[in-house]
Amino acid sequence: MTVSTHWLQEKQELRIPGPTPVPPSVLRAMSRPMINHRGPEFKAILARVTERLQRLVGTEQYVAILTGSGTAGMEAACANLVSPGDRVLVLEGGVFGHRWVEIATAFGAQVEVMEYPWHTGVDPQQLGERLRETPGVRAIFTTHNESSTGVLNDLQAIARVRDQVAPDALVVVDSVSGLGGAPLSMDAWGLDAVVSASQKCIMAPPGLAFVALSRRAWQRAETSRASRYYLDLAAHRRMFEKGQTPWTPAVSVVYAVDEALDLMAREAPEERFARHRLMRDMVRAGLEADGWELMVEDRFASPTVTAVRPPAGVDVEAVRRVALQELGVVFSGGQGRLAGQILRVGHMGFATPLDMINAVAAAEMALARTGAPVSAPGKGVAAAQAVWLERQGARP
Ligand SMILES: *Cc1c(COP(=O)(O)O)cnc(C)c1O
Repeated sequence: MTVSTHWLQEKQELRIPGPTPVPPSVLRAMSRPMINHRGPEFKAILARVTERLQRLVGTEQYVAILTGSGTAGMEAACANLVSPGDRVLVLEGGVFGHRWVEIATAFGAQVEVMEYPWHTGVDPQQLGERLRETPGVRAIFTTHNESSTGVLNDLQAIARVRDQVAPDALVVVDSVSGLGGAPLSMDAWGLDAVVSASQKCIMAPPGLAFVALSRRAWQRAETSRASRYYLDLAAHRRMFEKGQTPWTPAVSVVYAVDEALDLMAREAPEERFARHRLMRDMVRAGLEADGWELMVEDRFASPTVTAVRPPAGVDVEAVRRVALQELGVVFSGGQGRLAGQILRVGHMGFATPLDMINAVAAAEMALARTGAPVSAPGKGVAAAQAVWLERQGARP
């Protein structure tokens, strides 16, 4: 008889690029009683969370906390920075890049799209050429970590090209699945807007979006003519002076983010980034050893999510079904034009290298169950372990 564990909800391994597993103390924080969101307790929490978010984003500027998913943060960036008729350039290399196209179009921008292949990051040289051919670009929209393909973009290189070729263009970044897992230094890198959310590397449940604007982006917001109300960032900033948000926030998720940021502060940023890179390298080595094909070359490989194509003849959706139903491991499939063609493994936030052994083992076992010729059971697991051993260095 087939043994299945999927009913064990609390043992489920969420290996998807968000929402991500939530630590027990963060779950407990969510169960605290409700408070007045215009009272002194909330004021203290809001100040603390905002300050920690500023540090995480690498900015001296205010970071708005919006109630909504990451897309609300993306929409806020457009609603506050783009006027109808503005020429904008979207760098599109996947589903989330395309979301910028859709949002900017909805706000009446004249949208130029620079597509780049789904297995690489933005080519700075190509960006420079495109900006030279396209004068008058008011904003460049890009994706830090493209979760649909597992590509991490070099934001510094993008901002540098902007400085050289189109200095008036704002660089607007979706770092929903990057912030916390990959280095990001908004002010030092010259980024003008950074958007993120609670449910990825920040290891809290979904429900909050974060938006930071540079000084010149705030100036742009003052004169921009797009309609906005709920997502008016100036209203958020005004109310923040009083220790409040303009509308009732998702108080329980703010509790969660407060606790999660406290946990995050116990790991030095460099260690956190190294842990994410280690998990990435273990997953990549493990899956590759089992015959999966890496979608993305090493230099663009995301530290938070990995996408692979299956060995020839393998039905990815069947692998995902077995992993879920028989092993309680949740993998993602492909989105958009990659639907049904790839497997995506999330490795961000509340995750450890040992979790990656589980993930590789689950993918390997599920692959074998679908009848694929796995050359030797444990091969992927051994490869992932080898990466861990090598990275940990010599014996203590
Ligand atoms: C998760 C994610 C988003 C936001 O999606 P929501 O479902 O609105 O939270 C945006 N961009 C990227 C790259 C993401 O991974």
